[in-house]
Amino acid sequence: MPEPLLSVKNLRVEYLTPSGPIRAVDDVSFDVAAGEVFGLAGESGCGKSTLALAALRLLPPPAVITGGEVWFEGEDILAMDDVALASFRWRKISLVFQSAMNALNPVLTVGAQICDVIEKHEGVSRSQALKRAAELLELMGIASSRLRSYPHQLSGGMRQRVVIAIALALKPPMMFMDEPTTALDVVVQQEIMQQIAALKRQLGFSILFITHDLSLMLEFSDRIGILYAGKLVELSRARQLFEAPRHPYTRGLMSSFPALRGPRRRLEGILGSPPDMSHPPAGCRFHPRCTEALPRCRAERPALLEVAPGAEVACHLYPEPARPA
Ligand code: SF4
Repeated sequence: MPEPLLSVKNLRVEYLTPSGPIRAVDDVSFDVAAGEVFGLAGESGCGKSTLALAALRLLPPPAVITGGEVWFEGEDILAMDDVALASFRWRKISLVFQSAMNALNPVLTVGAQICDVIEKHEGVSRSQALKRAAELLELMGIASSRLRSYPHQLSGGMRQRVVIAIALALKPPMMFMDEPTTALDVVVQQEIMQQIAALKRQLGFSILFITHDLSLMLEFSDRIGILYAGKLVELSRARQLFEAPRHPYTRGLMSSFPALRGPRRRLEGILGSPPDMSHPPAGCRFHPRCTEALPRCRAERPALLEVAPGAEVACHLYPEPARPA
């Protein structure tokens, strides 16, 4: 893999609650290369959004980062002071939130909201910012006359495109996209994802793509990490994951979604629910739901190991490959 642009190393995040700390992200490590789309998938509550917000230091208390490093272009984001962090965010990594209606200010025009980002970070005049805002809207396929519209005057798809235009305003080398199309119907969802893919080819940015929709992720990601109960349980190239998912949880996730292409098949899903993170199961956290659990799975936590070139899995079904003597 080429030199990583983003490198998350052993990240740990806890929520401090009256009944004790809850570890929502537990010792997670992965890299994202320049120009790569890295997908993070898992059920709701598995730690995807917590991880992304923690990496940008946007998590409010009672969440605390209790360990790890997040490196971007040679700087540890977790070690930056507030001034460096304010200049870093949006210029280097921008964020597309889950719900455009919540991300946009309802009492400001979309033009004012795009201009705010440009003026604050680049110190240009309002007329220069407006010119750039018009270009960004056109880039997203929205007429520049819409700069004067308020969010409620736009469709859901247009609002999400405005949020993406704001994220692109400073031409960052990386965007975090947290469920960017979840609230939209499937046709608009596909249109927006294809537009993002075309913009990525044109502008060359990397994406950390977060979703619980594995079929969408398989279509748009280069590599994918699967999170379960705060732990990374599988890490693989998207094609490898599609053709040969190894972890029983990954296989369960894949059987829970209809494939975007190919013959229709029966959806099976995963038995049970994710664990109560205040008392996660011992051993493999997936063992109460796993149909392939071994006796040792109740007590021994599997480590994430490389089981094939480019494929890492945390599961006792896959023994550690023998190392050369
Ligand atoms: Fe299932 Fe055991 Fe693998 Fe966990 S380690 S996924 S319980 S087989």
